[in-house]
Amino acid sequence: MLKPQKLEKVLIANRGEIALRILRACKEMGIMTVAVYSTADKELMHLGLADETVCIGPAPANLSYLHIPAIIAAAEVTGATAIHPGYGFLAENADFAEQVEKSGFAFIGPKADTIRLMGDKVSAKHAMIAAGVPTVPGSDGPLPEDEETALRIGREVGYPVIIKAAGGGGGRGMRVVHREEDLIEAAKQTREEAGAWFSNPMVYLEKYLTNPRHVEVQVISDGQGNAIHLGDRDCSLQRRHQKVLEEAPAPGIDETARAEVLARCVKACVDINYRGAGTFEFLYENGRFYFIEMNTRVQVEHPVSEMVTGIDILKEMLSIAAGNKLSFTQADVNIHGHSLECRINAEDPATFMPSPGMVKHFHAPGGNGVRVDSHLYSGYKVPSNYDSLIGKLITWGSTRDEAMARMRNALDEIVVDGIKTNIPLHRDLVNDEGFCKGGVNIHYLEHKLANK
Ligand code: ADP
Repeated sequence: MLKPQKLEKVLIANRGEIALRILRACKEMGIMTVAVYSTADKELMHLGLADETVCIGPAPANLSYLHIPAIIAAAEVTGATAIHPGYGFLAENADFAEQVEKSGFAFIGPKADTIRLMGDKVSAKHAMIAAGVPTVPGSDGPLPEDEETALRIGREVGYPVIIKAAGGGGGRGMRVVHREEDLIEAAKQTREEAGAWFSNPMVYLEKYLTNPRHVEVQVISDGQGNAIHLGDRDCSLQRRHQKVLEEAPAPGIDETARAEVLARCVKACVDINYRGAGTFEFLYENGRFYFIEMNTRVQVEHPVSEMVTGIDILKEMLSIAAGNKLSFTQADVNIHGHSLECRINAEDPATFMPSPGMVKHFHAPGGNGVRVDSHLYSGYKVPSNYDSLIGKLITWGSTRDEAMARMRNALDEIVVDGIKTNIPLHRDLVNDEGFCKGGVNIHYLEHKLANK
């Protein structure tokens, strides 16, 4: 069914900064673009830059950005040849990928079966164990409902443990259990939540690592037997399991463990015949990596890897979707310098309540090694209907200190007037002693906020 060997016209099935990022990559490559939008998003910046635009429905995402028939219809009427899902929304929806390809369009991402395999964290873990990627010790498969068996598994793994939904995402559907007497009730509650949120009540059990860092590996693979990694990123600064500030490479990682895990990720891509860009997420504790999940899409924090490798991940995704082999080999990938990314959100910096509304004035910072990926402009109204991410501030330096100094400058220069943002939090973080030293764990930011 799949017709296009060449991507003539790409439909961008997303909004905000990532829609603009995809559009820029397409334009650079001479690919035509179709931008889709909801009625709440008529003012999005990339609409003015796209070759064609199609309104796909009203503000609620389930009636527009998540509405598969509306997106396929938009591709059909505009004669698009491929669809890029971005991140969030339908990016990791295997049924969407399948319908896109069945309708004769190229899906800019992995095959539907791969998304399905990795979308179920239990099957993903099995695939990783088979490929030799180190995982967190835990139940081998789903946690059985039989109480005695569940208690035995808990005892074998050792407390504390964490119960996680097989279909979970976005930091939801997880419960930490410190004592055996709480296990059965916690499993029951997590199953109920998982059934309601992810339409899949299956849960599994893992050892709860008490002070890990979040370190992830960026990969690109062409689905034709070639795979490479673009090094690692540290995303330990999190609030409610949501990443706030990321960097590449992860500071202070044991070099032997790093080389080993990077090689294993590349091998896993070849083993599962992975196609496109992807991320292996790990917890890192006491010099060891433990796989937690794979994201089968471009990630918010992909720019830090681009900055330290000089490789354009979006353009490579497009090229692979057009049927090309990887345009470079592992030997071409050199990690150079250091990069940081601050996620700028429209939210109250103290309460974290969303703060949509009119941006009266926007001034973007600049200078050597400064990159701004944002759809903001003066007079833009941030709608209340979607995620609060309004842009990403990225810096590069030949050393971590230089990248940090440039980020301090950029955060001093940036102006977003009219709405509240988390810029004050970032200003605080880039001056934080522990963070400046490097290598903080996933609880660091929450503890810092709690002690304020
Ligand atoms: P999601 O898909 O919802 O993002 P993940 O499996 O990636 O779920 O986990 C999200 C976060 O939850 C991790 O970054 C980490 O902070 C925490 N977490 C998950 N599993 C464990 C574990 N076994 N031990 C400690 N923390 C964990």
